[in-house]
Amino acid sequence: MYRIADAHSDFLAFSTLGELGGRLYNHADIERMEAGGVVLQNLAVWGPAGHEVPEAAGMTQIRYLHALASQNSSVRICTRPEHLTLNQGIWAFLSIESGESIGCRISNIQKVYDLGARMLSLTWNDENAFASGCMAIGGLKPDGIKAVDELNRLNMALDVSHINEQGFWEAVERYQHIPCASHSCVYDLCAVPRNLKRDQIDYIISRGGFIGINFYTEFLRGQRTAYINDILDHIEYVLERGGEDAVGFGSDFCGIEYTPEGLNSAAYFQRLPEAMERRGYPNSLIKKICYGNFARYVLEFLH
Ligand SMILES: [Zn+2]
Repeated sequence: MYRIADAHSDFLAFSTLGELGGRLYNHADIERMEAGGVVLQNLAVWGPAGHEVPEAAGMTQIRYLHALASQNSSVRICTRPEHLTLNQGIWAFLSIESGESIGCRISNIQKVYDLGARMLSLTWNDENAFASGCMAIGGLKPDGIKAVDELNRLNMALDVSHINEQGFWEAVERYQHIPCASHSCVYDLCAVPRNLKRDQIDYIISRGGFIGINFYTEFLRGQRTAYINDILDHIEYVLERGGEDAVGFGSDFCGIEYTPEGLNSAAYFQRLPEAMERRGYPNSLIKKICYGNFARYVLEFLH
């Protein structure tokens, strides 16, 4: 079984908010992650903008993870480099998805850092007090600039999935560490606003960053039906741009309405390396895509 690292899941949001009127889905739990071979799981905290108090929803998710880690011996919160050398259970890498999840308050970045968070994205798809997502216009706002400065100070990962192009370029220019797109696909293969343009992919690779390919069928093929081979096509595009050390998985499980055929939960992760073997990928490359590249990226933010 290949070790799997997944750079984005909405498991915490689903576990605490339920289906949220059809916006969250039951794709993953600890048992299914273990069955799929997941050993490193980025767990996103997402306070939906339409939610009554997104900041409270965010804190509830962080508390849920801490409770889970104290009750379930197979889940631990990953904050130190030596954690990744311990080959046991699932290491949870805690991230904050969108400024709303912390009330767009700069002081809350230190607060969530102290609770284990090591990654933050400024926006979801719409506009907030930090910046604008891919469905809105405008670049970084004064508080968005302060937020990037705070990530610089704390050495937290900047996640550029969801932000629009103007915000992307303004944020990565100001950001001093290595950026990532935790759950984004390739625009050239599927022209939707959430996907990364070629120059964005080239830039992330040039900075030594990470790109987690999203499993959402609408981002893979622009329709409800997609296949594991579509995920491999998006991976191969990044590989052809020189991304052998940059590309991996950002499943977006629990946050996507439609999943590829044969991959409707975290339990089926091993079908990806199996498909890579069928395409003749060398074993060393499969290990990088499945685990090594995201683990290498995460290590930049563990001290
Ligand atoms: Zn997302």
